Amino acid sequence: MQQEKLDAIKSEIAAADATNAEQLEAYRMRYISKKSVVGELFAEMRNVPNEEKKAYGQLINEVKVLAEEKFQELIDKVNNSQKQSKSQDIDLTLPPTNNAVGGIHPLTATRQRIIEIFERIGFNLSEGPEIEDDWHNFTALNFPENHPAREMQDTFFIEKNPDIALRTHTSSVQVRVMENQKPPIRTLSPGRVYRNEAISARAHCIFHQVEGLYVDENVGFADLKNTLYHFAKEMFGKETKVRFRPSYFPFTEPSAEIDISCQLCGGSGCNVCKGTGWVEIGGSGMVDPNVLENCGIDSKKYTGFAFGMGIERIAMLKYQIKDLRLFTENDVRFLKQFRSML
Ligand SMILES: [Zn+2]
Repeated sequence: MQQEKLDAIKSEIAAADATNAEQLEAYRMRYISKKSVVGELFAEMRNVPNEEKKAYGQLINEVKVLAEEKFQELIDKVNNSQKQSKSQDIDLTLPPTNNAVGGIHPLTATRQRIIEIFERIGFNLSEGPEIEDDWHNFTALNFPENHPAREMQDTFFIEKNPDIALRTHTSSVQVRVMENQKPPIRTLSPGRVYRNEAISARAHCIFHQVEGLYVDENVGFADLKNTLYHFAKEMFGKETKVRFRPSYFPFTEPSAEIDISCQLCGGSGCNVCKGTGWVEIGGSGMVDPNVLENCGIDSKKYTGFAFGMGIERIAMLKYQIKDLRLFTENDVRFLKQFRSML
C-alpha cells in the first residue's frame, strides 16, 4: 500500500512541468515545502512501526531527492526560456561582437597636438569666419587690386563687387586679431580653408591650416626660426632638422618656406622627399610693414613674424599617409588605426 502511494508520487514528480514562475512556485508548494505531499510522508513517519522505520525512511528520502532534483531542473528550464524570449532573434552560438569604440579623427588629433605645442610657449587661440570679405582675405594682407598674387589662389567667390569669398587661408583671422588687439600679440589660428583645386592625392578643395602670429617690439627673424625649430622638434622628434628657403608671399617680407628633414629616410633621400632629404611643411616670414599699418599697428614701433602650415600635410608627414583623400572618405579601416591617439 505504502509502495503504491510512493510510486504514484514519483511518477507525478517525473511528469511535473513548469514554464513560468507561478508554476514553479506551485511545484514548490506541492513537492518541496513542509506542507507538501513529500512533507506529509515525513510526518507519517511517527505512525510507522519501529522495525519498518529504517526501510520507510530510505524510501521517502528517495522521493525527496527526486523532488529536489526535478525542482532544480524546472528552475533551469524557466530561467533559460526567459533569457531566450528576451533575445529570440539572436543566435547564441555566434561569437560575441565587440562594441565599436570610436576615436579621435587624425586631423583633430594633429590639430590638438599643434595647439598644445604652441600654447606651452605662450600662443593663445583665435578663430574667424570661413566666409570672408575682400579686405580680410586679400587687401589687408597686401594683395593689391589686380595683383597677380590674387590670381595665384583660385578662390570660391560667393559675391563679386563687393567680393565675398570662402577664405583661402587663415591669415584673415590674423588681420581680425591685429585690428582688435594691441601688441604684444601671440596667437594661433587653426581652421578650415577653401581653394578651387581638383581633388587628388595631394590636393583638396577643403583643407585645414594653422597659422601663427607674433607681434611685439623687437621681434626678429631669429625669434621666428627658434619658434619653428621648437615646433618641428616637438612635433616630429628632436632629431628633426629644419631649414628655411627664401620665398615670396605678399604679406611677409622677407619670406621663407619651412622644410624639415624627411621622416622616412632621415635625410638620405627617398621617394617621399624626391631624393632631396627635405620635405616642406609650410611658409613663414616677417609680417610686411604694410600689413601692420593696414591693421592699425605702428610698424616703426612693432615688428612681427607669421607662419602657416597645412594640418593635413603635417598629419601626412607624421603618420606616413600617402593620400590626402583618406581623411575625408570616412573609411573605418583607415580611421581605426588612429583609435589610440591622445
Ligand atoms: Zn626621404
